[in-house]
Amino acid sequence: MFDDEDILGLAEELRNELGKDECFPFTPSFEINAEGLQRLIHHPYLLLKLWLLGRKFSKDGKEYWKDSEAKKYDCLSLSQWLESQTGLLSNEESRLAVRDWFYLMETEPLDLRQMSTLFAAIMVYQRLSNITQTGLLIPKCMRWEGGTGAFIEFLLEALQRTGKVQMLIQTQVKTITQTSDQVIVETSGETITGRYEVVATSPLAASFLKYDPPLPEGAQRICKAIRPWDFPALNILLVFKKSWRPGLIYLPSPEKETKDGISGIIMELYSRNVDRSLIRILTYPEAINGKSKEEIQRLSLEFLASLYPEDREFLFENFVSLTTFNWADIKPFIPGVTYYYSPDGSLATYGKYLRKNHGRVYFAGSERSIRGLHWMSGAVIRGNEVAADILKEMGRIKSRTEYQREISKKNLAGVDRICSKNILQILKNFFGKIFPWSSTSNLIRKQSYLPSREELSGRSISISYRQHYLTQSESKISKQVQKI
Ligand SMILES: Cc1cc2nc3c(=O)[nH]c(=O)nc-3n(C[C@H](O)[C@H](O)[C@H](O)COP(=O)(O)OP(=O)(O)OC[C@H]3O[C@@H](n4cnc5c(N)ncnc54)[C@H](O)[C@@H]3O)c2cc1C
Repeated sequence: MFDDEDILGLAEELRNELGKDECFPFTPSFEINAEGLQRLIHHPYLLLKLWLLGRKFSKDGKEYWKDSEAKKYDCLSLSQWLESQTGLLSNEESRLAVRDWFYLMETEPLDLRQMSTLFAAIMVYQRLSNITQTGLLIPKCMRWEGGTGAFIEFLLEALQRTGKVQMLIQTQVKTITQTSDQVIVETSGETITGRYEVVATSPLAASFLKYDPPLPEGAQRICKAIRPWDFPALNILLVFKKSWRPGLIYLPSPEKETKDGISGIIMELYSRNVDRSLIRILTYPEAINGKSKEEIQRLSLEFLASLYPEDREFLFENFVSLTTFNWADIKPFIPGVTYYYSPDGSLATYGKYLRKNHGRVYFAGSERSIRGLHWMSGAVIRGNEVAADILKEMGRIKSRTEYQREISKKNLAGVDRICSKNILQILKNFFGKIFPWSSTSNLIRKQSYLPSREELSGRSISISYRQHYLTQSESKISKQVQKI
């Protein structure tokens, strides 16, 4: 799921390259536990204060560790900072609202003593700024048909088509050695030589590699300072033979956090499939330890039924199958799902190494981006930055800024396409609602994806707009579901 122009820009490039238009807006149906949401609405004061702090540190893409006060806030835990806030509006509810926000929006640990205030402020500022132009009031959520795995496959296909790329997959990089004019990369398969190397992974994963000459101490320190958090690492996938709550994104209550039973974030994944649903529960790996598949199945269904008691019968009757997988097992080099920094001053002291090249070795990956930290957009932004650095170094481009500007233009083309879809959607909604059976709406209704006259009454066409994609991709999704 994404809502930013950087991924859209990449999607646009893939569309031009491969003729594949698989990125689609969808209407998430967010359900946040009422208590947490109420707190955020009624007591946003400290969250806003944190946002302002983050703005001071990283406005206009400033590298936040460079701020004169960065160290002070990086040595202060978020809980200490919250406690130091006084005044009428800095009450306990306002403090809890900050805690809830991190848990609900960023799936970060509830223990705020573990998190640096500098990092927390940056997270809040990044997430609640840079609101993109894809929606009219709020950004439009987008998905990639078949999931982000399909997105990566298209990227690989596009790269392979250039005929200039040699790719090794399922191959572990072990050692990176530099000479005066080349880089030698030893992998679990073959040895590769090149002029430059980009390590595009989390700093923690980058710290497992052996570098010759070794990384400066500061670079090693920052790689190890990042703290992985495994809350959403376990995926429980449940297939239902009928559609259940399309677009559902349920964010659980921080109050109910438990590592024992099955509970967590719920997402309906393939809402294009009108016939069936794939539901994902993200939780702690410990949630299933020592439990049989039958027990996991029962507990998962019970968890869903406890939240939606009115659907209990539906859930048990329509359940087809269950699969579980743990990111930590599948990707041992991605040790956490989200990340944070401890309040020990490491980020302010060694942050500068996050984006510094080590001779011919450059570092990318979303955690090294100033914007889009933790998200796919961060990985794309940082990838473009490093590409600009290397192209400049090779003399292929004159100016980094100019190169970035070109990319931003391309990104806007992706945004424009989504926006024009929005306008079309608004027109459809308008005419569909005001003149339900006018010639215009009849014309629109000739499109196969639009609902029948009966279906249309009382519903906005935007829903059927999504169903268009639902139908289009049905066979593909069915295959995915069968695979699972
Ligand atoms: C469950 C989950 C849900 C998410 N949902 C969203 C979402 O909805 N929207 C969003 O924008 N982001 C989401 N994210 C975050 C997003 O996936 C990451 O921010 C993004 O993938 C980071 O990209 P990256 O290129 O920096 O690193 P990665 O995607 O981690 O890629 C790094 C790659 O390097 C490989 N690697 C590491 N070490 C080695 C080595 N020694 N040799 C060879 N290969 C190595 C890893 O295996 C990995 O494939 C989610 C993440 C998770 C885990």
